[in-house]
Amino acid sequence: MTDVRSELIELSRVLGDPHHDLVILGEGNTSVRAAGDSFWVKASGTELAAADVHSFVRVGRQPILEALGREALSDEEVQRLLREATVEGNRAPSIETFLHALCLDLPGVQFVGHTHPTAAAAVLCSARSRELLSGALFPDQIVLLGPALVYVPYADPGLPLAHAVAQQLAAFEQQHHRVPRVILLENHGVLALGSTAREVLTITFMLVKMCRILAGTLAAGGPRFLTAASVERIDRRPDERARRADFK
Ligand SMILES: [Zn+2]
Repeated sequence: MTDVRSELIELSRVLGDPHHDLVILGEGNTSVRAAGDSFWVKASGTELAAADVHSFVRVGRQPILEALGREALSDEEVQRLLREATVEGNRAPSIETFLHALCLDLPGVQFVGHTHPTAAAAVLCSARSRELLSGALFPDQIVLLGPALVYVPYADPGLPLAHAVAQQLAAFEQQHHRVPRVILLENHGVLALGSTAREVLTITFMLVKMCRILAGTLAAGGPRFLTAASVERIDRRPDERARRADFK
């Protein structure tokens, strides 16, 4: 077995561990870049907690990215396309394969973890989710998650969601000139983008902690966001950059 696939299996099992309350049953999916312009992604109908060699399929990146350029595809066309893009494995790739291809196309992103943490979904399903998630609350959040997160309004899972994410990624790049670490999916869940499997875990756990703190602030007058100057200071401090590197 290739090393990246064993790392992906381990990452998936930790994300799927019921103690972390990130997913239940078949929720969530993971991926990693692989050789020959391809990537491993979770197969449809498998559980993260029980991930093994049979839980993943390897798909070609190009056919998936090309499909993203097409506006409307029927459900049958999407399924056929996913089957045709599969280069290794017998199962059907997850419907969120399009989303993973987009994220793995970003510079430095090797692993992607998509989960539905209860703590994050509670905020993302709330009436003021965009506003509540628009600022930074504490220094370690900035160190691990970056100064800003990508926020994506609700879209139908699959190709429509991938189109919505592509749009917000372009807007984020234009505004912040950097690769995001977190993508928030309204009324749905989160994506953690990492250069290593460990980074996907630390990003996911810090994001969950941030959402719990955010929920706590709502019982005490609402969040008090750090100022833009404080956020920039933490983001640029050499000691914080060194700490960030330690978590990879
Ligand atoms: Zn999902």
